[in-house]
Amino acid sequence: MKCPHCSVGVSLEFGKTVWAEKDVKETGMGYGLFYDHCPECAGLVVLFKRGYYKVEYTTRYENNYLEDITLEEIIYPKSVNRKVETEVPERYRKDFLEACAVLPISAKASAALSRRILQDILREHFKIKDSSLATEIEKFIALKDVPSYLSQAVDAIRNIGNFAAHPLKDTNTGEVVEVESGEAEWLLDVLESLFDFAFIQPNRLAERKKILNEKLKSLGKPTMKG
Ligand SMILES: [Zn+2]
Repeated sequence: MKCPHCSVGVSLEFGKTVWAEKDVKETGMGYGLFYDHCPECAGLVVLFKRGYYKVEYTTRYENNYLEDITLEEIIYPKSVNRKVETEVPERYRKDFLEACAVLPISAKASAALSRRILQDILREHFKIKDSSLATEIEKFIALKDVPSYLSQAVDAIRNIGNFAAHPLKDTNTGEVVEVESGEAEWLLDVLESLFDFAFIQPNRLAERKKILNEKLKSLGKPTMKG
């Protein structure tokens, strides 16, 4: 995950528990607070989880924990710290930052915005337009110049979002519907990679080529094409 303080990709264990308790109602569910410190910036990150409450008894101790997590949410720090490079077109940038801003309040709203941005990019930038997002994703991952890490990440959106159970995500991408655990964050991560591939890298390559061409020209050599 990305540290919400410093945006560096880090691996947080969340092994430190404040508590894990059984719900008041007899649902078998429980909830807990977990925390860890970012190894890069030492910032505190607190996670709230819901899942099935289990107790393990041994002769020496009693260990309570949560299983089959149904909800996992960063409750501290409140804001999601993500940046978007200026190469990304304004309309996507604005919507992306909005999807980040609403994430701590509503993962549903954030995911709906992100799905819409994804569909917009597929339609406007990659000229892929079909009746459902799942089919558009299929067509996108079949493009031959898409790097495999990106096609796998985009493809995983369908599984993580459980499109089969939530058909509106597929046919009406901007619809605010239930999200799966980690889905909204995943969409933001994937959009960042997609921004990089679609807008940032091509722009930087073009700039680099321009500089090299100017050099070739000053050397009296033919310039590069294409
Ligand atoms: Zn950090």
